[in-house]
Amino acid sequence: MKVIAKEFNLIQRFFAREASNKDIVLSIGDDAAITKVPTNYELVTTTDSLVAGTHFLSDSDPCSIGHRSLAVNLSDLAAMGANPRWASIALHLPEINEAWLADFAKGFFKLANRFDVDLIGGDTVKGPLAITVTLQGLVPEGSAVKRSGGSSGDIICVTGHPGLAAFARKHNHSDLVACYDYPEPQLVIGEQVRAIVSAMIDISDGLDSDLRQLLLASNLGASIDVESLPIEARVKDSVGFLDAVELALFGGEDYELLFSVPPSKLNDLLEMSNNWDKSLSLIGQFNEGKELNWLLDSKPFNSNQSGFKHFI
Ligand code: ADP
Ligand code: MG
Repeated sequence: MKVIAKEFNLIQRFFAREASNKDIVLSIGDDAAITKVPTNYELVTTTDSLVAGTHFLSDSDPCSIGHRSLAVNLSDLAAMGANPRWASIALHLPEINEAWLADFAKGFFKLANRFDVDLIGGDTVKGPLAITVTLQGLVPEGSAVKRSGGSSGDIICVTGHPGLAAFARKHNHSDLVACYDYPEPQLVIGEQVRAIVSAMIDISDGLDSDLRQLLLASNLGASIDVESLPIEARVKDSVGFLDAVELALFGGEDYELLFSVPPSKLNDLLEMSNNWDKSLSLIGQFNEGKELNWLLDSKPFNSNQSGFKHFI
């Protein structure tokens, strides 16, 4: 957009970096970027937006916003089993605030550098604060994991401790704020399990909503005892078991991976998970039905979810 286009030197200052990736033919500075997809690989593309007032507060730490704008996209590629490569950012800014841009770029590039992601372009326009990141990655041909590959009998697994990010945010828990402000995308695990899992998704909206997406895509159902959920003891101790279950099911923002594995591959998965610095929990199995039922003491778990839907 022209009002900000003349600030192009700002883009050069804050966003142009030496490309680390030899597959980049042309990066920031022309009308479009050019990249090469290696033979026998497929290009995987995802886009996610963060909007002030919806996904973060406008006075949130810009370093955290920079991190999260990339992390949410990295998490989507993790859930495909893809390796991230190239990002572009559409920045909607109400004004040019150099200190804000410097901190945003710090959060973005610290994470980008850890996963060898190069920023190859973007757009900078005047408007209500919002950030849209498009991220591209690679997978060997045919090896990306979709949501739709599950079969009845496959075992449903989840990494980490769903509910922790929502707990950290809701209760402003000082030693846990990083769970929410600086979520860690599970790229290493996503890539490792892609050869053996049948369906996968990342938990950004909460276990309930994201498991429903997996079931819908795979045309299956599941009945899961909420006692099998890997809820951290400190969350249960702090808010009680029932509220802890609500946070795990509906809290969101965890960016853990939820996937299904055929029983024949379970041993391989358990062996792999021995090397993870993250827990793996088996929480149930896909069935032929079309419903998701959460159970407690063999009865339907009565949720009080409305209170947990929105944090901002
Ligand atoms: P155009 O009018 O051709 O879209 P722009 O001035 O919007 O040109 O962009 C010039 C160059 O700067 C392009 O390479 C574009 O990808 C890049 N760019 C613009 N904004 C950003 C940004 N926020 N982050 C990274 N690159 C950006
Ligand atoms: Mg432009």
